This record gives sequence, C-alpha cells and structure tokens, in this order.
Amino acid sequence: MDLTQISPFSDHSPVLDKQNPFESMMHRFDIAAQLLKTEPGVYEYLKTPVRQVIVSIPISMDDGEVKVFEGYRVIHNDILGPGKGGIRFAPDVTLDEVKALAAWMTWKCAVLNIPFGGAKGAVKCDPTRLSPLQIEKITRRYTSALLDFIGPDKDIPAPDMNTNEQVMAWIMDTYSMHMRRTEPAVVTGKPLALGGSLGRREATGRGCMIVTLAAMNKMGLKPQQTSVVVQGFGNVGSTTAHLMADQGCKVIGISDISGAYYSKKGIDLRKASEWVNVNRSLAGFTGGDRLSQEELLELECDVLVPAAKEDQITKRNAGKISAKIICEGANGPTSANADPILLEKGILVIPDILANAGGVTVSYFEWVQNRIGYFWSLERVHKRLGKMMSEAFDNVFETAEKHKVSLRIGAYVVAIDRVSQALKLRGIYA
Ligand code: NAD
Repeated sequence: MDLTQISPFSDHSPVLDKQNPFESMMHRFDIAAQLLKTEPGVYEYLKTPVRQVIVSIPISMDDGEVKVFEGYRVIHNDILGPGKGGIRFAPDVTLDEVKALAAWMTWKCAVLNIPFGGAKGAVKCDPTRLSPLQIEKITRRYTSALLDFIGPDKDIPAPDMNTNEQVMAWIMDTYSMHMRRTEPAVVTGKPLALGGSLGRREATGRGCMIVTLAAMNKMGLKPQQTSVVVQGFGNVGSTTAHLMADQGCKVIGISDISGAYYSKKGIDLRKASEWVNVNRSLAGFTGGDRLSQEELLELECDVLVPAAKEDQITKRNAGKISAKIICEGANGPTSANADPILLEKGILVIPDILANAGGVTVSYFEWVQNRIGYFWSLERVHKRLGKMMSEAFDNVFETAEKHKVSLRIGAYVVAIDRVSQALKLRGIYA
C-alpha cells in the first residue's frame, strides 16, 4: 500500500486540545459524516439515542439496610437490528458515558455488517465493596426493571467492565423466569453450559490478529520478519500476543499495569502467561528487561497493539511512536488529536471499531446459535470470524483508499453509510 496516497486533509480538521475518548469518537464521526455529505436530518438522527432508560434498583444489603442504586440502558440506534452492547458496573458511570458507549457499538456492529444496533447499560455501584449476593441481587433487580426493553429481538446485553459470565447467567435466568421459558438468546457472553459460544473468550484477540495480518500483507510485511509490541496482558493483549507469535511474529515487548518488559530476541509468552497465572500480574517477571510504560509504546517495532485502556497515544507521544502498524485492541487508545500526527508519520492505524470487533462478532454468533438451537464447532467459529473480519478489513481499506482518508475515517464512513442507507430505505415513520 502506498501510504502517501492517503491525503490527510479530512483528518486534519481542528480538534479540541483536551479530549476524552467519546469526544474523540464524535470528532471522527463528524469528519466521516461530512465526507459522506450526510443530510442534516439524518446526521441529527444518527447522533441521538433512540431510547434512554433510567431505573432505580433497591436492594436489601447483607446487614438488612436498604440501598438504592441507579441503572441505565441506552439503545443508541436500532435501524439495523436489536440493540447490542455490554453492561458495566462502576461507581462513577454516568448516563452520558453510557450514551457515548452505545453509539460506539452502533458503529462497531455496522463496520462488521452485523445485524445489530448499538446499546450499552450500566449500574452505578462499586463492585469491590459488594458481596457476591449483593451483586446477584443488583443484577436480577436491574434485569427485572428492564424486562420491557431487553430481549432476543429487542436488545441483547453482554459483559463489560466488572461484569462477567456469572452476571450474564443471572440475567438469562431472571429474564427466563419472567418469560416462563428458558431464553438463552437474551444475553451473550454466557458460560458454555448455558449456551455460550466456543471461541468467545479469545475472539477479540483473534480478530486483532486477523486484521493485523491483513494490514501486514498490504505493507508487504512477512510474519517471520515482523516484531510486535503489546500493551496490556489481559484477555485481548495476551491472546493477540500468543496468536501473533503462533503466526511466526516475534513479540519483543509486553506490559501490564505493573510494568513493561522488552526482549530483543523475543519474549517467551508461555512463561509470561504462566507468570501471570501464578502471580496475577507481570510484576517481577524475569523474562525481559524492565522498561517504563512510555518506553514500551515508543519501542522500535513493526506492529504496536495497545490493548490496555483508552488515551494511551496522544498528541504528547504520537510523534515518538516508531511502529509501522498500530492495531487498536483497546477501545479508544488513540485520542483524535494524535490521528494527524500518526498519519503524517505513515503509520497504518487499524481503528478500534474494526480491530477489536471480533468480540461482538462472536457474540453475534452466540446469539445465532442460541436462536437456531445448534452449536458450532470451534473450527466453524474461527472460520466465520476470519471471514467476517477479513471482509470488514477489505471493505474499510477500499473505502479509505477511495476517499483518500485513514482507515479510521474509512471505518466510520462504512458504518455511517450502512446505517444511513438502511434509514433511508426504512423511512421516517410518523
Ligand atoms: P483485561 O482487564 O483482561 O486486561 C487489561 C490489561 O491491561 C491488564 O493486563 C492490565 O494490567 C493492563 N493495563 C491496565 N492499565 C494499564 C496501563 N496503564 N499500562 C499498561 N497496562 C495496563 O481487559 P481486556 O478485556 O483485555 O480489555 C482491554 C481493552 O480492550 C479495553 O479497552 C476493553 O474495553 C477493550 N475490549 C475488550 C474486549 C473483550 O472482548 N475483552 C472487546 C473489545 C474491546
């Protein structure tokens, strides 16, 4: 791919100096909407959530005291299908944050051509201060308060920050009790024994690997000559690191919240995973030289995978990034004010709404399997994930080339175009 062919013009509009990931997302949305010449009415429609629900969740605590928590569920858009998006438990979560995260899901599903709209939910609570029984009570009461809004054809929750397979099992059970039938398709990310899908846990990392290989192919990089640095060694980061190494790449740097490690000859990933299994973090890992978190991101390498958290690559450090490809395993790891700097440096950024969409894709597969009542083999899940991720990558790549923009803006163009076209065909019911 000739990166000089990408004109930076449309990625260069003025950006706010201080940005949070949602402002960054909206900034990119605006650029893509302008490029598509989206009509003002459609633009307004696509920016506005179709439904915002606030529920109160009274719980009798373990000591008998009653506490009331607040819960939210937002469907940003349901033009392409039922809402899809995680539920997070966090003490500082706000309705505005949930609205922004729901919009993010709309674009992610649309880029992958998954027949879902975007949604997100949350309960304002601190799970570290709650007993498992209290978490179960909150989950069940939250679910029952949302019975009119969630469902396999309406809105399908999934795990997010501080929620897990067990929380999904409680949601599925509560919903099923009220419906008087077992309804696994109401949530995804369930335990396998309750209708979860094989391959769901590693799906996001696998998706990252697939699109990174596609990008390497465009740049003429062979896996055997490719060095990889991964920030974050949790679900997404460690899976991506292992799968990239399985493809023949050399993973020279890894990190987690406790520190960063470098080895010129390659990190022994099996040792790193064993270390984390025993010690719960990389702290004290002896399989590489210690680096600072900043140095890890600035390491000379072919592929950098930020898979930890948002806002890691900003205007401050973007000029020092030496990778050829950035694969955004995390949501929002690059702030919008870093985009033009990376583009100018010729770094190919695979944007989050494409790069980490493997998770929602296998969630979609889980929903499909629940609805047909037939479970796919791991091979089938891998094959279909590979096909959908590769097609999405090609589509975004071609769109970016056509409009002479970055892959990020290309991805937003694909997503907004898909939803706007569906909206036009459906029309505005009044
Ligand atoms: P996780 O909790 O399993 O792992 C996060 C990792 O990042 C941990 O190793 C943690 O120590 C590390 N980390 C946290 N702060 C750090 C810092 N400042 N510097 C270096 N490392 C740091 O989480 P995950 O599921 O792997 O998710 C990671 C990111 O990917 C998040 O942004 C998440 O929203 C996004 N994501 C996850 C999925 C999924 O399926 N799990 C899907 C889409 C997007």
